[in-house]
Amino acid sequence: MTAEHFVRYEVDDRVAVITLDRPGAANAQTPGILADLDDAWRRAEDDPVVRVIVLTTTGKHFSAGHDMSGNDPSTDERSLAPRRVDGKLVAEDYYDWETRGYLGYARRWRDIPKPSIAAVQGKCIAAGLMLCWPCDLIVAAENAQFSDPVGLLGIMGVEYHAHTWELGARKAKEMLFTAGSVSAEEALRSGMVNHVVPLEQLREFTIALAHRVAQTDPWALRMAKRAVNQTLDTQGFSTAIAACFDIHHLGHTRALAATAGETVVMADLERMKAAGRAGR
Ligand code: ZN
Repeated sequence: MTAEHFVRYEVDDRVAVITLDRPGAANAQTPGILADLDDAWRRAEDDPVVRVIVLTTTGKHFSAGHDMSGNDPSTDERSLAPRRVDGKLVAEDYYDWETRGYLGYARRWRDIPKPSIAAVQGKCIAAGLMLCWPCDLIVAAENAQFSDPVGLLGIMGVEYHAHTWELGARKAKEMLFTAGSVSAEEALRSGMVNHVVPLEQLREFTIALAHRVAQTDPWALRMAKRAVNQTLDTQGFSTAIAACFDIHHLGHTRALAATAGETVVMADLERMKAAGRAGR
């Protein structure tokens, strides 16, 4: 069986466009899809013609986050998912996988020495944020909604805790406390997105912005990006990201311990406890 491919890569003049194309599953991310996305990012990074990278997705929603179905049509030829022992996830293996596979990708994409722009439409849920936040600029459609409801998994947010940096402390807390959505306009006010445009103009506007950025000298672009990212790192961004990843895994480890290796939402855990199938 051949793996299905959900990631497209095109170069338009000096702009690389990476497209996640799995609209039937609201662009949910499997380990195989993330590996394919990472391949596309590397290709854009290595191509001397490419000066700017655009990340876009197809369909109504930007991304529903990680694919929790366990079905990965893109990985049959590669063993990319976290290893299981006797069908159960092992905490330390899970930690290693997410370090490499989730956090690792987001951090690597953030630091690629070329400017990147994400175009976000519809819902951008949980790990959807880990696709757009690593990009340098974000253009949102008017209907964009950003949320991170992984409190439902007993966890403080996705693996890449940029929430506080992107939204400010109070808005980040409200987003995580309520599992609610941040609208495109709210995201604009908080500085999380650069522009809000009508949905039908999203792609055209983003590509035009990319071409405008591509007119700047590549070395100047690289150094400008480095200056801003180094400033954030001096303020503690990367250290905080690493520290909060461990807090994220405290949540996973608690859930795995309570369920002897299953990942479940808290509602399921409560039901399992009531049925005597899970510990405290
Ligand atoms: Zn996780």
